[in-house]
This record gives sequence, structure tokens and C-alpha cells, in this order.
Amino acid sequence: MTKTSFLITNDDGIHSNGLVALAGEFSRLGEVYVVAPDREQSACGHAITLNHPLRVEEHKVDGAQKAWAVDGTPADGVKLAVEVPLMPSPPDFVISGINRGPNLGTDVLYSGTVSAAFEALLSGFPAVAVSLCEPSDAGYAYSAKVASRLVRAWMENPLPPDTLLNVNIPGVEVDQITGIALTWLGRRKYDRVFERRVDPRGRVYYWMAGEPLEETETGTDVAAIRMNMVSITPLHFDLTRRDLLEKIEQWLRCLDPS
Ligand code: MN
Repeated sequence: MTKTSFLITNDDGIHSNGLVALAGEFSRLGEVYVVAPDREQSACGHAITLNHPLRVEEHKVDGAQKAWAVDGTPADGVKLAVEVPLMPSPPDFVISGINRGPNLGTDVLYSGTVSAAFEALLSGFPAVAVSLCEPSDAGYAYSAKVASRLVRAWMENPLPPDTLLNVNIPGVEVDQITGIALTWLGRRKYDRVFERRVDPRGRVYYWMAGEPLEETETGTDVAAIRMNMVSITPLHFDLTRRDLLEKIEQWLRCLDPS
């Protein structure tokens, strides 16, 4: 029987502690391959590179059979891993993270970490995205354990294809974590998003910052993290409002120009 193989990627770059923690943990479950950006690519969303060549360099990551750094986005890395393919055989699972900082609610649309996992789904591989709200060594070790237990459960009880699990770990001491919640995506709205500043030549510029506003809805990933719970949200990429198809169908008569 061939060994289970894992593709590990992220958006914080191949040198980040979260990626190293995942590689170490998953090397106990099977063969680990790493393909990750050569520098931080946070908040790049699902971008892919079309206008310059992609360079791939072999790297050393503890626990990994092989590792490659890519001068592109997380989605580029997943594509290279499975399309070139850099990996000797297709992965059984793709794990993205452990991101430095949360990926909650509507922010998943901007997230390079979650988009790498979505790219895996597009290629037909199950994927987990893992994010740690406040980075710490103990937090990374705990997050990697949660991810590997989740993947083991998934291997025993397979989920439908096209499923991504988005996991967020609260940024508190491990003994302060109050449980694990299955959640849906909340909303992340930010206060004072742009800081207005003036450069040394007197020209105005803006720097995106902002603090997330309090969200009151319960059951969401945002709410779980607020309660110091691990949040697990199953995602897929079908953005279709199926519930509205019938209603909008009624418009079609008026839209027909004939
Ligand atoms: Mn990141």
C-alpha cells in the first residue's frame, strides 16, 4: 500500500513557523511535500501569475520529503505541485497554513491561505486551511495537532469531494481553549479601515489597517473564536444563490429583447 501523502502550503512563505509545524506533525502520518511562496503573500486571495515566469527552488523543510519555494502566489504553488507535477504522485490531502492570524468570515475571500486550499479543491483534492489567531510556539504545535486529528477523522469517514475545512484556532493559551465548534462563516467588518498619512514630499497616501467591529451573530466562526473555541467551517466554492433561481426566472420574460 502506498503511503498517504500530504501537500503542505501557506501564504506566509516557506520560512514561516506555522508551515514548519504542519510539516513536522504530518510527517508522522505519511509523506510530506511542501510547495510554498518564497515570501509572504498574505491577502493575495486566489491570484495566479500570468505575466512573469515562475521560478521554483528546492528547499529544506524538516519533516518534508521534498520542499520547493515558488516566486508566486499560494494558488500558483498548488498548481505547480499537482500540474507539473512537482510531487511524485497526487496528494491525498492538501493542508494550508498554519496562517499567522485568523481567517474568519468574509475575510476568507481575501485569504491566500484559504485560496490555496480552494485551489486544491479545484484540482480534486480535499483540503484543510488552518489559521492561528495569535502566533506562539505552543499555539502552532496545538494547531498542527488539531489539523492532523481532523485529517485522520476525515480519512476514516470521508466527506464529499469539493469540501474544504476552514479551521481557526483562538489566540489564547492552550488551556484556555473552551472547546471545538462547527460553524458557518460570519461577517468581518472593519472600523477606520484606512489611515490617511502624508509622505515626506507632502503627498497624501493611505495605509490599510482597521480593527474588526464586534459581530453579534451566534453560530459563526467569528463567534466561536470570541468564545475561545476552535472553529471548524466546512466550505465549498459554489457561490450560486440556488434559492433565488426560481424568483429571478420570473424576470426572464421582461429581459427578453424580442
Ligand atoms: Mn498569511
